[in-house]
Amino acid sequence: MSRPIDWKILATDGEARSGLITTRRSVIETPVFMPVGTQGAMKGVRFEWLEQEFDARIILGNTYHLFLRPGAEVISALGGLHKFSTWDRSLLTDSGGFQVFSLSELRKLTEDGVEFRSHIDGSKQFLSPEVSMDVQAALGSEIVMVFDECPPGDAGIDATRKSLELTARWAKRSREHFDKLQEKGADSGFVHSSDLSGGQALFGIIQGAGHLDLRQESLERTIEIGFDGYAIGGLSVGEEKSVMYNVLEYITPKMPVDRPRYLMGVGTPEDLIEAVDRGVDMFDCVMPTRNGRTGGAFTSRGKLNIRNAKYLKDDSPIDADCGCSVCRRCSRGYIRHLYQAGEMNAATMISHHNLAFYLDTMKRVRQSIKSGSFARFRGEFLSKLRENEDQVG
Ligand SMILES: [Zn+2]
Repeated sequence: MSRPIDWKILATDGEARSGLITTRRSVIETPVFMPVGTQGAMKGVRFEWLEQEFDARIILGNTYHLFLRPGAEVISALGGLHKFSTWDRSLLTDSGGFQVFSLSELRKLTEDGVEFRSHIDGSKQFLSPEVSMDVQAALGSEIVMVFDECPPGDAGIDATRKSLELTARWAKRSREHFDKLQEKGADSGFVHSSDLSGGQALFGIIQGAGHLDLRQESLERTIEIGFDGYAIGGLSVGEEKSVMYNVLEYITPKMPVDRPRYLMGVGTPEDLIEAVDRGVDMFDCVMPTRNGRTGGAFTSRGKLNIRNAKYLKDDSPIDADCGCSVCRRCSRGYIRHLYQAGEMNAATMISHHNLAFYLDTMKRVRQSIKSGSFARFRGEFLSKLRENEDQVG
């Protein structure tokens, strides 16, 4: 049977790689930043912009949120997440695990899965590898993530090992149930294709926190099960930056060359560049839209907080080097006024710019890898990024 996704490396520069992931719905150039569409929508930014202005080829949907509201059954009845949300390019859905462990209260973790109370109405809910695979099949995403347990970033070695063992057993159950669902045709996003299988791809997740030997073990056990791509989980959860860079430096070169590598939930523009330098292909993070809502802008000259008084009479754009439609049209002074006035366009405009900046940065990363000048690009990009450091948040 042909594979659900195709992965091709076009160029490498040191550990950095630029490639193409072809799914049943779009061709994705890597390294890629995937904007996060938590509730089946991008917060504050319409899909029209993502398609026409940013040319985003893949976005994320959150299983936890969609599972609780409106529920897999509703989305399935309305034709799957693509048809329901009108996003017809690629979707990656997470497993719900990360949110269960970070958002919900009163969790009861067993071998079978995790029981928790919904953060919306307090109702009792249950997620397991099987339920997560069922939900992701109903959503019909192109890339499905295994259901894993996410230990806190500062977990000690014993707790991390225990969690890793459970994650390995859950990964196997995820794989088995996923395969059954594909056979049964439960995937609502199936697309007939002559080159690809038309079904969903499944990615495994490497855990192990900051413990390199456990990362190695998790990698081996995940590869043994076999997946279409491999993700690095459990980073950017409160640990020191140096821990993340050390783990990446250690584990990424050991990951299969012939599969895409995805660093989950990361990060700042600097994190992205540093992770690409260590061989990562895919990223997602809520920061561009979350910070955008509170007045935080990411620019080529560092972070900017539009609420600062120094922008009151500033008639320059958020980022003079950005070609997005907000920067072409509006001044910092104007957007600051909108923010102070509680005008919702302020949040929308900054989120818009932030996503444009992230996607444009990745485009420049790809070009520099292809032209063999990534090291120079990285140096220049990072030093410019340090020019401005407003407190954002
Ligand atoms: Zn802009």
